Amino acid sequence: MPLRLYNTRTRSTEPFAPLDGNAVRIYVCGLTPSAQAHIGHARSFLFFDVLRRYLAYAGYDVTYVQNVTDIDDRSIARARETGENWYDIVNGYYASFKASMARLGVREPDEEPYATKFIAPIVAMIEELIAKGHAYVARDGVYYSVPSFPRYGALSNRNTDELKSGARIEVDEFKDDPLDFALWKFVKPGEPFWPSPWGDGRPGWHIECSAMSRELLDPAGVGFDIHGGGADLIFPHHENEIAQSEPLMGHPPMANVWMHGGLLLFENKKMSKSLGNFEPLEDLLKRHDPQAIRLLFLQTGYSKVMNFTEESIGAAALSLERLKTAYRQLRRAPVRASGDAAALDAAVREALDNDINTAGALAELHKVAGRTLEFERAGTDVAGAYEALLDVLGLTPSAAWAEEPVAAALPSDTLARLHDAFGAELSLNGASAEDAIARILEARTQARVDKNWAESDRLRDALLACGVAIKDSKDGTTWNVAE
Ligand SMILES: [Zn+2]
Repeated sequence: MPLRLYNTRTRSTEPFAPLDGNAVRIYVCGLTPSAQAHIGHARSFLFFDVLRRYLAYAGYDVTYVQNVTDIDDRSIARARETGENWYDIVNGYYASFKASMARLGVREPDEEPYATKFIAPIVAMIEELIAKGHAYVARDGVYYSVPSFPRYGALSNRNTDELKSGARIEVDEFKDDPLDFALWKFVKPGEPFWPSPWGDGRPGWHIECSAMSRELLDPAGVGFDIHGGGADLIFPHHENEIAQSEPLMGHPPMANVWMHGGLLLFENKKMSKSLGNFEPLEDLLKRHDPQAIRLLFLQTGYSKVMNFTEESIGAAALSLERLKTAYRQLRRAPVRASGDAAALDAAVREALDNDINTAGALAELHKVAGRTLEFERAGTDVAGAYEALLDVLGLTPSAAWAEEPVAAALPSDTLARLHDAFGAELSLNGASAEDAIARILEARTQARVDKNWAESDRLRDALLACGVAIKDSKDGTTWNVAE
């Protein structure tokens, strides 16, 4: 089966084929760094990182562009409140966001256009829109005329009458229609500004994406492959981008596939800058293993509404620990042309081909993790594929993954004692004492994932009775010879 992706534009899941040969051109709406990034931002960018990694793994030549809205009302307002320079504010928040993305294993975009560095193409595009009758100059700036574009509302599947009922003209706006939106805002005292044929000012948010995606991905006006963002951007932002771009194109649509990440709730509540009810991403990543957070996101379909809780990070950390233990065991297993690598590769591809079903892909990696003892006995060729597919999901094994837990030499009768205690319930035949302990710890991890605390305690106590003491910490479970 070829890769199939859900397309917001057509409201269906379709086979994916690049518009131009093997090249896949992706534009994702990036951050407006006028406040701290939160975990909701991370979810969307993390998903597009997996999409990008998988397309590259599948052999496509991917160009990934993600813009930076480095000028907007809030950064200017914040500068006024604090007395800081507005651009220092923007740069500070953006540097923090980039450091957080790196910790989460999100790769850097190929191009990272800043709106203020693309003023010339933005002005040129507004001039074209005015010339074609899609925009007009008003007292406070240049506006896009929504009634000039009959297809408006097609992406969000709403008609303009419906949209108009929720829109209004603010007292300080001088536009003709409530749905019209600003392309260029004339400068107010104390604001940063750039020159334009209509007067000094700055670009609106929507036009920057139309102008920068055209400049970097589609100068010919024939469309690019994938446009992405969070579901909250479908209306009005993406609707507006389409209205700006498509009248100037030879061959619309602006993007062949539109993809949107689902909303993230934090402890059952909507996160909002105005409510201020979120912890900065930077701080959250200090308290938790970023790979565990990444794994937690991968466990949920990207387009679904997801509720993020502290408790769920704990369960994801245990799941990550299982993958790490398996990684070490597979590296130790004798190499044999077993066909396991090809089977794992096919199974993970099948999952990801189904609209990037990351939960399904993880389940396949966990199936392999559950067979490590068998692989250590009989040999396998799966270790390389296991590592490569972890990397496709962005759970790239670090050097720390390979480190064997350090334990004192076990007394020679330990294996026999483990067999007596656990042999009836777990298959320990052929295992060394270390392997047997790993197998028991895996069963205990599963019990903890299932919240079966009684079983988890029973396994711990039974191990202790065999002379093996275990210790749980933030970084996982370690064991040692009981004193
Ligand atoms: Zn955008």
